[in-house]
Amino acid sequence: MAQHQFQTEVSQLLHLIIHSLYSNREIFLRELVSNASDALDKLKYLTVADEAYKSIVFDPRIDISFNRDQKTFSVSDTGIGMNEEDLITSLGTIARSGTRAFLEKLSADAKKDSNLIGQFGVGFYSAFMVADKIEVITRKAGEEAAWKWTSDGKESYEIETAQRDSHGTTVILHLNEEGLEFANRWTIEDIIKRYSNHVAFPIYLTYEEKEYDDKGKEKGSKTKTERINAGTAIWRQAKTELKEEDYNEFYKQIAHDTEDPLFYVHTKAEGTLEYVTLFYIPKKAPFDLYNADYKPGVKLYVKRVFITDDDKELMPTYLRFIRGVIDSEDLPLNVSREILQQNRILQNIRNASVKKLLSEFKALADNNKEKWEIFISQFNRPLKEGLYQDFANRETLQELVRFKSTAVEGWTSFADYVSRMKSDQKAIYYITGGDEKTLKASPLLEAYKAKGIEVLVMDDEIDDIVIPSLFKYKDYELKAVNRTGADEELGEQKDKDTEKDLKPVIEKLKKALGDRVKDVKLSRRLQDSPSCIVADEHDPSIQFAQMLRAMGQ
Ligand code: ADP
Ligand code: MG
Repeated sequence: MAQHQFQTEVSQLLHLIIHSLYSNREIFLRELVSNASDALDKLKYLTVADEAYKSIVFDPRIDISFNRDQKTFSVSDTGIGMNEEDLITSLGTIARSGTRAFLEKLSADAKKDSNLIGQFGVGFYSAFMVADKIEVITRKAGEEAAWKWTSDGKESYEIETAQRDSHGTTVILHLNEEGLEFANRWTIEDIIKRYSNHVAFPIYLTYEEKEYDDKGKEKGSKTKTERINAGTAIWRQAKTELKEEDYNEFYKQIAHDTEDPLFYVHTKAEGTLEYVTLFYIPKKAPFDLYNADYKPGVKLYVKRVFITDDDKELMPTYLRFIRGVIDSEDLPLNVSREILQQNRILQNIRNASVKKLLSEFKALADNNKEKWEIFISQFNRPLKEGLYQDFANRETLQELVRFKSTAVEGWTSFADYVSRMKSDQKAIYYITGGDEKTLKASPLLEAYKAKGIEVLVMDDEIDDIVIPSLFKYKDYELKAVNRTGADEELGEQKDKDTEKDLKPVIEKLKKALGDRVKDVKLSRRLQDSPSCIVADEHDPSIQFAQMLRAMGQ
């Protein structure tokens, strides 16, 4: 028997999970079932794709059982299983480097955290909320040895050899006080129906049913095993057969979210390419949206066989908040995960999916103000990234992104700005480089205000990078008021006399400021303030320059 210490992050996490998630204990079952289902997916893939696994009997099932008297609860699967090395890496460490970011995100708000936990994929450890000891008995497909992993979820775990007749994994929980309520047939059925009804493999529940004689007196009990999930690949069903609840339940299962999605898009393509996609848009941005090592949210299936859920190429980066499934009929089953990236079929599916999603976003903007507001509050920024990442869809994206403005409250679009423009106005004006309040108080806006010209208030860091690269919206040039060349429309030709009068002042200022400025110019943009600093039309903005410097350039 060998004792191992948990990686520090795991200990920290275990502590946090146990102490902050108690309001949502039941998710432990969803996590264990989802691991069993993943293990079955992996084995299924190998049996069709890898010669070495062809002889393995694939009889997929997930079995749940419990014993109230002994306070045990077990979830068993006939999946890929784990060997000693797998146990150490999977159940002793956290592989993803975003761990720190995750731990920092954890707060006193337990409900919010329980959402994060699943998304982050630390699912297994959540079982320590209901157990004071966990045993994992497992045997990897194609290997002879079986192993037992045991831990009380504190600092360490043990691994020893064990017995198991065939490949797969059994997780045995020794329930604590709080966990006892889950040793109940109806509670289990209820949780499975809620979170795991559409797991594609059969889930069986074994329970004791009491038997009574004619007089109603208990005369013993009988063990029964019953299937408790529907087990359909929901995305393969016709839309007409599905209810809103079906879609929502499947979303919660794949996205590890406890909330319903904002909306979903279910598409079946027939013709040159045959595939089904079911995409979900969450109500809240995933916690790792701005982490470089975010976990992708789209799973790839080929003819209902799971291929991968860790391929960032399935969606463009700016749509990394999308959750869902792509299931193709045309890809070969044994397509290697490496070739996927250059695969033309997949490229086509991806392109069509992006177009479809963007058009659904547009429809939401046009037809459902309430949902659109939620959507844009969460995903405006990734969509702006799309403006410079996705040239092919730039026009559509330009219609989707939103900005603050000097003319209206809340969000506005380029199109709305244009509809409010003065008839002789030729450009769209915007100001960047600060928060909304500072920008709206900027002296640079004085003259525009006086002329009744609307200015877009771009208070998002990303605006500074994205907007200058756009140059135009339709036929209208985009001009920053904090740059030179943005004041032509502010009125009459420069007054020759003023220019002459002020020449000595300007010369003096140039001399006094020396190398610290590029130039000193007469401007028409100020109303009450005597002077302001602007950037040259062709130079990077001050904020952008600061950002470049911060990145060491
Ligand atoms: P995630 O499922 O997001 O990877 P978990 O904490 O739920 O995170 O599980 C950690 C890892 O443990 C899994 O990635 C998998 O490698 C392994 N694992 C957990 N349960 C099983 C199981 N039933 N069969 C095989 N491997 C498992
Ligand atoms: Mg998991």
